[in-house]
Amino acid sequence: MLDLLIRGGDVVTPQGVGPWDVAIEGERIVALGLPEHGLEAGRVIDATGKIVVPGGIEPHTHLAHFISMQPEENLHTLGPEEDTRGMVFGGTTTHVDFCFVRPGTDVQQVIETRAARWKGNSYADYSFHVALQGPLPLKVFDQIPEAIQAGFPSFKVFTVEVLPPHPKRHPYRLDFGRIQLAMEKITPHGGIMVVHAEDHDIVQFMYEKFREEKQTDGWLLPLVHNKLSEKLAFRRTIQLAAHTGAGVYFVHTSAREGVDAVAEARAAGFPIYAETLHHYACFTAEDYKSPRGFCYHTYPSLKYPEDQAALWNGLVRDGISTTATDEFPTSLELKLRGQDLENVTGGNLGAEARMGIVYSEGVVKRRMSLERFADVTATNAARILGLYPRKGVIAPGSDADIAIIDPGIKKTLVREDFHVSDYSPWEGWTIQGWPITTIVRGRVVVENRRLVGDRRDGKLVARKISPEVLRRPAC
Ligand SMILES: [Zn+2]
Repeated sequence: MLDLLIRGGDVVTPQGVGPWDVAIEGERIVALGLPEHGLEAGRVIDATGKIVVPGGIEPHTHLAHFISMQPEENLHTLGPEEDTRGMVFGGTTTHVDFCFVRPGTDVQQVIETRAARWKGNSYADYSFHVALQGPLPLKVFDQIPEAIQAGFPSFKVFTVEVLPPHPKRHPYRLDFGRIQLAMEKITPHGGIMVVHAEDHDIVQFMYEKFREEKQTDGWLLPLVHNKLSEKLAFRRTIQLAAHTGAGVYFVHTSAREGVDAVAEARAAGFPIYAETLHHYACFTAEDYKSPRGFCYHTYPSLKYPEDQAALWNGLVRDGISTTATDEFPTSLELKLRGQDLENVTGGNLGAEARMGIVYSEGVVKRRMSLERFADVTATNAARILGLYPRKGVIAPGSDADIAIIDPGIKKTLVREDFHVSDYSPWEGWTIQGWPITTIVRGRVVVENRRLVGDRRDGKLVARKISPEVLRRPAC
């Protein structure tokens, strides 16, 4: 007999949406059956009137992460034990965080340190991008093939020092020479570049200029992390990728200029992918001026209505492949402590809300199909980052990672709807449809908005990217 059956829901698969029963044995989905097949199981979840989707894949989080905006205070974001509780409440079953390779460390060592921090402390499954930062010795790049072999095929680089030059911080930026070297090392071994692309000169010049003019308001951020900077950096990175043959995944695309650059590269057949953040799609630079405005700030920055329109167009149709959070969970006090250009705290707190917000704003308001919803919340991230087909899809043989959405829930979100920190930027937002039940590898972790899982449920998942994804735009 089967272990678990999800019965009566509208099940979203790559073949379409149908009234299938989802049959689960152990950690895997074993069959999709029609109701008249009369499948039986030890346990049945009645999903009548609900939507059954692949568990969300959150491709971009910074948990237990040093807070560089306040470098002298040695503060960290909340850890996986706190943040992944929110993720599973919100239907997300896997996340990809980062380990940081800086001068003086090596790749294997930073992976092991992060994996040890997560072990036994995550409700959701997890993996890590390998971030390459600062003036790294060239021999570090020789460790790339081994990391890919070990199941860590995505390499994050910053083209920019994101934060202002004061106070002094450890470097983030990798120079374009080293980015080229990284691309050359990953490409023959099946890795992908994950790029935070902004123009270093423009961003740092704008910080300097505003400092000299004694203009310090935080709402000037979109003029520092500006649209031209995104245009220049996306296009320069794409040219480097075309030259080296590398696939690129652009994190947190924020401007129309970024979307356009990616669309052009994809039309020319290059394996270029873009992520955006649900709060970039829902808030604009005007929101910085509201009382809790810096709640919505993530680097680069919020932009303008025309950028929002381009992001939604890319999400609903084509051009933006994934939604992410750039999760950076802190208390409200810490998030709002800095209010000016030089000390505002970046990062978002919204991994818990991601699936529900994209459902409400995409499917309900903008006629995104349910198949596309599954793509931009789970399937595409799984494909691009090498979790597919084990994850990101409801299909026989795949892990039984599933979210059940109740489309009948209609409400204004309040503080009590969230389970990570003492605030959510999404308090006050009106939604229609919200995840109610989440299953991670066959274990029910959240049931009818009640936590029943435990933080030992999550496991490290080895990744391997399909050559198809690295050859041309595959999703
Ligand atoms: Zn980030």
